[in-house]
Formats: sequence, structure tokens, C-alpha cells
Amino acid sequence: MSRGGVKMKIFKLQEDPSYRFYNLDAYNVQKYLSSYPYLQDNKNYAICPYCGNPVAILYVANKEHTDASIYARHVTNDVAGFPRINKQKLDHCLLSYNLVPFVPATSPIESISLKSVNIPNLRKAFNSVTGISFSNYTTGEILKNHHNALAFRNVDSYNFYFSLLIDAKRFNLSNRYVWANQIKKAINTKSRYFKLIGDKVVPKQKGIGDLRLEIKEYDFKDGYLPSITFEIYEQINETSSSPLISFKRYCFMYDGLVGEPASTNEYF
Ligand SMILES: [Zn+2]
Repeated sequence: MSRGGVKMKIFKLQEDPSYRFYNLDAYNVQKYLSSYPYLQDNKNYAICPYCGNPVAILYVANKEHTDASIYARHVTNDVAGFPRINKQKLDHCLLSYNLVPFVPATSPIESISLKSVNIPNLRKAFNSVTGISFSNYTTGEILKNHHNALAFRNVDSYNFYFSLLIDAKRFNLSNRYVWANQIKKAINTKSRYFKLIGDKVVPKQKGIGDLRLEIKEYDFKDGYLPSITFEIYEQINETSSSPLISFKRYCFMYDGLVGEPASTNEYF
């Protein structure tokens, strides 16, 4: 894991919720980072959107200060006005080394045992990424059927919820509960064969077709957070509808996925 080589292209502020971040460009530096503690001694600082540690805003040497030449990098010493560096999280930061897709690896960076996984917190992570309510049972089934994804490249105890989703690829939504408003709206207005009763997805006519949540693509790019683009569509016999909705979600560092229940990180 070589630190230093990767130029981060995103940042956030201390007061931002866990899911918010901004592109690192001249406009946003001016807009968000022009007062203390984000500006001090003529230097700009911000927060890493993944690990929450302070970062310094830098410019490629001998280049004009254009958007392309701006980047951020973790600082190695504490900065006044910012939380102290959390070394444990810094060591697990996906933005501190070259990002490679979560694919099968020959040597995993961390050995995560199935028994150590905190199912209720994993379920919360699945829920917050997808907008769908997973039960503890379904969460356990996904974990069991895709446990190989715990050992994918760059996967650790803070991010394996994301590799499990990537490996699982698709989820049947019939009789599941939806809690994200944008998904409820898409089903209510666009679905031909499904409707919501309360928050539960049910077929309009018994036994006709499936409603699916599927991973359309995922993106791993140096300096950015990994992302998944999801689509929800109907499948009737062998025919799939065009997507009712498509949405992109980012991989954030998630606390408490192993061991005792801890904090959550829900959004939408
Ligand atoms: Zn970081």
C-alpha cells in the first residue's frame, strides 16, 4: 500500500453528513475552504470523505492552478482545528492507495471470519446503500452465499458490505419492503405489474413476473470513492422492462460491520 501516490479528487467538511462530499476544483475550494480551519497559513485543508481524517489541498508542481492540477492528500501530522488523525482508519482508507476493483484476490488484506460479522449492522449497511429493507435472515443468506467477497482485493472490515453487494449482483424485490422515497415513487408511477401496499412490494396480479434490483455497473477510479450504479426493472417471462429507476451509490467506510453493534451510517 503506497501512500502518497494517489491524488484525491474529492473532499468534505467536518460538519457534513457521512454521505456528502464535493469534487475538488477551484470553485469548490473557494466556496467551501476559504475560512479557518479550512484555510490557515495560506494553505487549504479539508476532510477525507472516506476515512474522516484531515487532508491538505495541493497543486501539481510547476503547473497552473487549474482544476486538473488540484488534488488532496492525507496529512501526516495533526492540523489545528481538525480531529486528531485516526491511524486505524487512515490505514484502511481506500483513498490513500491505488484503487483496484473489488475482485477475487490471491492474498486478501484482512481475514474476516463469517462468525465475526455483525448481521444487524451489515443489514443496515445494505439498507442504506440500496434503499430496500433487508431482513436479518436475507442478510445472513447473502453473507453465506457470497462469503468469498470478504476476501476480494482491497476489501476489509469497513467495506465488505460493498463487495458482498457487487458479488450478489441482483435481488428480487417482490414482497420486500422499500424505504427510499425515490424508489417508492418509481414503483408507484412506472411499474406495470407491481404496486406498493404500505411499503411492501406486491404483484398487481398474483404470480406474474419479478421486480429486480440489479447492479448495472460499478466504478473504481483512483482519487474517487468506489461506486455502484443500480437499476430496478420488471422481468416478465424472459423479457426485462426498461429501468424504472437508476441510481448511483458510493462506498463509504462503515463502522461496526464486525464485532459488537456500533454506529450506523444511513442515508437517502
Ligand atoms: Zn482517507
